[in-house]
Amino acid sequence: MLGIILLGPPGAGKGTQAKKISGEFAIPQISTGDMLREAVKNGTEMGKKAKAFMDQGGLVPDEVVIGIVKDRLQAPDCGKGFILDGFPRTIPQAQALDRVTSDLKKEIRVVLSLEVDETELMERLCGRRTCTGCGAMYHVKFNPPKAQGKCDKCGIALIQRDDDKEETIKTRLINYKKMTEPLLQYYKGTGKIRSVMATGDIGAIYANIANILR
Ligand code: ADP
Ligand code: AMP
Repeated sequence: MLGIILLGPPGAGKGTQAKKISGEFAIPQISTGDMLREAVKNGTEMGKKAKAFMDQGGLVPDEVVIGIVKDRLQAPDCGKGFILDGFPRTIPQAQALDRVTSDLKKEIRVVLSLEVDETELMERLCGRRTCTGCGAMYHVKFNPPKAQGKCDKCGIALIQRDDDKEETIKTRLINYKKMTEPLLQYYKGTGKIRSVMATGDIGAIYANIANILR
């Protein structure tokens, strides 16, 4: 069972690396951010509740995200493992995850902590572009698509996320420090945490991650 947690601030490259891990190790990426955005897009009750928090750069209440992850981990494609991207983000979420994995007889094997300087995070998030079709991630400067504004894989238009605006990013980074950074200490105690330098070439960072996972 290859259960992986990707920890790191917004913009650290969790989604970018999760997609690569998922491709090679054939385990699903579970991104609470993607699932919440999907719920907002579909106008579900949960989406309506989550939207206000997300628009302001705040965290969605613990019970909402814990419920989503608990359901998702029970899907058959999580039988061999899973990559948690953007969850847990608070100590109560981490404690709930411990309970859920234990109940479901699943195991977190490794917690990868992606390390990036704060100055770089702002530039990464301001230039992030996402494919509305397949979810592929680009950056206007660091990882541009071949044709401007279009996905290399499916040719569909790239969009900028609503919360990737400077003011909202600042709030998200403050919330990361306050609510999520304490998780580094929480997982240090488990002996499962591995630190990964996450600046520089995306492929080189992935090579380090793949080495740890193998
Ligand atoms: P997260 O999921 O942690 O918020 P993303 O994977 O969405 O982060 O990456 C944020 C932005 O930074 C994206 O535009 C992505 O293309 C870009 N990016 C990811 N890894 C790197 C890297 N090593 N160097 C430069 N830019 C990167
Ligand atoms: P992300 O795509 O990971 O950057 O998440 C986008 C937004 O979704 C965050 O700013 C939060 O508002 C919300 N969100 C995603 N994951 C969580 C989580 N584990 N706990 C609370 N809120 C979350």
